[in-house]
Amino acid sequence: MNENEKLKELDAAYVMPTYRRDLALVHGEGCRVWDADGREYLDFMSGIAVCNTGHCHPAVVKAVREQAGRLMHASNLFLNEWQPRLAEKISGIALGGKTFFCNSGAEANECLFKLARKWGSAEGRYEIVTMRNSFHGRTLATMTATGQTKYQKGFEPLVPGFAYADFNDLDSVRSAVTDRTVAVLVEAVQGEGGILPATEAFMTGLRALCDERRLLLLCDEVQCGIGRTGKWFGWQHYPVKPDAFSMAKGLGGGFPIGAATATPALSDVLQPGNHASTFGGTPLACAASYAALSVIEDEGLLDNATVRGGQLRAGLRDLAARHGCIRDVRGLGLMVGLELDGPAAPVAAKLREAGLLCIPTGQSVLRFVPPLVVTDAEIVRALSILDAAL
Ligand SMILES: *Cc1c(COP(=O)(O)O)cnc(C)c1O
Repeated sequence: MNENEKLKELDAAYVMPTYRRDLALVHGEGCRVWDADGREYLDFMSGIAVCNTGHCHPAVVKAVREQAGRLMHASNLFLNEWQPRLAEKISGIALGGKTFFCNSGAEANECLFKLARKWGSAEGRYEIVTMRNSFHGRTLATMTATGQTKYQKGFEPLVPGFAYADFNDLDSVRSAVTDRTVAVLVEAVQGEGGILPATEAFMTGLRALCDERRLLLLCDEVQCGIGRTGKWFGWQHYPVKPDAFSMAKGLGGGFPIGAATATPALSDVLQPGNHASTFGGTPLACAASYAALSVIEDEGLLDNATVRGGQLRAGLRDLAARHGCIRDVRGLGLMVGLELDGPAAPVAAKLREAGLLCIPTGQSVLRFVPPLVVTDAEIVRALSILDAAL
């Protein structure tokens, strides 16, 4: 039995079977990862859009090593050296306001929900309109907010206070708004839904609708944020500003951390005692995140995401001209979807065999979300592996 098979057996015996998986990854560097038996892969999934600075970026590793030996956790009963500094950095690239720290995307969205409900509570408004085909997480409230019944089946009753509308259909959102509505939640680019960018008309229409009905415009930037699309945040591709938004995945350069950030007007809605997280914003997580955001700035990774994303989409469009099974090529920056005329999972399995990791999403979409440090040569190699597999 090889190493991978041993780990697979242990996993099957002792880990709840919530994930379908059979490959153990043990080491990574930049855009490459190695499995338990030493096989190398070109990683175009980045731990699901998490390792935006590449695997084990030396600056992130150094920050984690140093902080781990200094102070890992002190609780939020105290300040720490990194949380306020990270919050200042986020304020500068985001909405100019304050941030709450947590540990995951779902928790970051939960914070948005609580902020919106608290803000609307004096007027008895609490309902949040979310989009069909969206994804917002797996806790009871975020699973309810997720506009896809496949994630909710068997877990009813759902959490009250959510309504659904069609993505990129302003009239649908307008008709979902009632006197109880307090906010609208949207992904600038739907990730799990199949790499679907919002249209500009939709985003500007949502902003106008929210202003007209005094609703908060909330964005879920958990997947499309942190440089993924070539800008710090997906909503920055549109001439609008949300009132608050969530982030997680890429925020820690591989270390778990989530955050919700707001405009100055909403920065003090949540008051002492209203919200908390034991592990939220530990010195260790914030040091990792501060280092990861600094790498994105210092290495010009927003521009690299734009250029390499353009190269990847152009290459995929060339493949589409030669492979009839390709239906569509879409995305922003290094958040790229390739829609096929059949199920994507078998193609992803074939690509893995050939040494390229990507993620099937929806039914028929291959999702490519490589680290933002990806090079010209790595894009060329990924395209040639894909060409051969198709
Ligand atoms: C992954 C994801 C989440 C959930 O994040 P977790 O860290 O898994 O809780 C929420 N929203 C979007 C858009 C995501 O892609």
